Amino acid sequence: MINRAEHVLKHTFGYVSFRGDQKQVIQTLLDGQDALVLMPTGGGKSLCYQIPGLVREGLAIVVSPLIALMQDQVNALQQLGLSASYLNSTQSREEQNTVMRSIHDGSLDILYVAPERLLLESTLNRLMAAHVSLIAIDEAHCVSQWGHDFRVDYLGLHVLRRAFPGVPRVALTATADERTRVEIVERLDLSEPQVFVSSFDRPNIRYIVQEKGDAKAQLIKFLQGHRNEAGVVYCMTRNRVDGMAAWLQARGVNALPYHAGMGAEERSENQRRFLHEDAVVMVATVAFGMGIDKPDVRFVAHLDLPKSMEAYYQETGRAGRDGQPSDAWMVYGLQDVVRIAKMVQDSNANESHKRVERAKIDSLLGWCETNTCRRRALLRYFGEDQEDTCGNCDVCLNPPKTWDATEASQKLLSNIYRMGQRFGSGHVIDVLRGKDNQKVQQFGHHKLSTYGIGAERSDKQWRSIIRQLLVQNYLLVNEELYGALQLTEKARGLLKGEVKIFLREDVESAKPERVKKRPLNVSDSDQELWEALKQCRKVLADEQGVPPFHIFHDATLMEMMQYRPQDNAELLTINGVGEVKLEKYGDEFLQVLSNF
Ligand code: ADP
Ligand code: ZN
Repeated sequence: MINRAEHVLKHTFGYVSFRGDQKQVIQTLLDGQDALVLMPTGGGKSLCYQIPGLVREGLAIVVSPLIALMQDQVNALQQLGLSASYLNSTQSREEQNTVMRSIHDGSLDILYVAPERLLLESTLNRLMAAHVSLIAIDEAHCVSQWGHDFRVDYLGLHVLRRAFPGVPRVALTATADERTRVEIVERLDLSEPQVFVSSFDRPNIRYIVQEKGDAKAQLIKFLQGHRNEAGVVYCMTRNRVDGMAAWLQARGVNALPYHAGMGAEERSENQRRFLHEDAVVMVATVAFGMGIDKPDVRFVAHLDLPKSMEAYYQETGRAGRDGQPSDAWMVYGLQDVVRIAKMVQDSNANESHKRVERAKIDSLLGWCETNTCRRRALLRYFGEDQEDTCGNCDVCLNPPKTWDATEASQKLLSNIYRMGQRFGSGHVIDVLRGKDNQKVQQFGHHKLSTYGIGAERSDKQWRSIIRQLLVQNYLLVNEELYGALQLTEKARGLLKGEVKIFLREDVESAKPERVKKRPLNVSDSDQELWEALKQCRKVLADEQGVPPFHIFHDATLMEMMQYRPQDNAELLTINGVGEVKLEKYGDEFLQVLSNF
């Protein structure tokens, strides 16, 4: 049967070979066993159940939590000439009846359904009467009550074992941690599942973190390396989203806002444009992203820090599902560190919860300040050890210099001490640098022995030092004293000269930013062909009202550009061109290729 699976992979999906664990997962399901699949976003989870669903006799049921995603997946399968459908509340009676009939007469191969719908007695009875070949439970971490995507309907899915005895079930998720894994197996009542854990590395994503200066100017510069490409810019608040989107629009960027405070209609229209147009920059709060299955998102930019490493990984993971080079870019600075400290202290959570929050944030901040390969540090956080540095993060590409900051830190700490530990960073820096202003006069700070002892450094340099000392726990922000900087226990050793401290030189301030090469490798001579192929795809997509990536992915167009197929047979060898799509679109693309 695995031969048939390979046949489907090549001829229906148009792919050359299986990726990662796909083959083993498919084999397991074809053998009638249960499986748990942990794969990062973009790892290729869908094929793990779609192919055995097609190979095994009968109907494959796919449980999926998001209606928008369901439609999308079904459209993509129909594009491949497959018999797939979905059942959900957005359909008319008539449409639902049609689907029910196709289940009944055995003509349907794959059915997507939301858990609450599947668990209705009427639906369940209908499906139990049909010949079900396989059950896939996508986004399986939704059973976890601790996770942020918990859905109560997922808890009911354990009944599937009894309702469909002997039918293999596969649970899939991109959430990696051990606890969630155990919960999934228990709560879905999987029977002795084979567990497949892939590496969570996303090698095509380049991680870049920069010191936040003029964030808008930095963003514009970054976007220059991503002209005519789709991406997401995450901001913390609705206000900032609106402001940033308007600001980018005024500078000619095709930017749209998205946040939970907007009307449902405007939101879904912006989402539609993001999917259907080639190069929309979505400026959004984290309300945007879950269930956006767009493969060619070329960058994710963070203008504010995410909540945790987990959130960062998930948000940046939306870039580059298609495996093509993509950027995860973030700016962060002292203000972020102070703001976050505030948020934790302000939150109503109980003490132990706050400790967890604090620890999560500390991990994230520590990662921001890391002097070693970011990818390795990120993966280590998720329990995965990588031998080599990656060569594809800012630290690897542009190793930060460190400097002996012992003396500078002592100046700072003793100044804070002498000022009574009652002031925020702005005033602390003013005193260090010997500024004369009303506040200095009012508190008599010009009389302190530390007044002006830090005049040799700029504001920006001092902010960088404070930020790093905060992250390394030499300093803390006391929210009850309006964000005053205070020394910690750890600071004493440093003040007394018992330890030395080395800090990183912020790359942004140290040297001008290099202009980055285009992430997608289209050479100048190929640029016209690339645009022509995209244009061809856009016309076909608009004719059918589907997003361009339903016609072909960027990766497929890239291969066409590289190999310049001249006839059907050659076109079939391109990854992503199967028989049905060849027939539907082959002529159009061959025509374009023949012009170059
Ligand atoms: P996930 O659900 O794990 O995020 P998908 O199933 O959406 O990932 O797959 C991500 C992308 O990789 C899709 O564009 C898919 O077409 C592509 N893909 C999956 N498996 C293969 C393969 N064996 N060869 C080439 N491309 C693949
Ligand atoms: Zn690296």
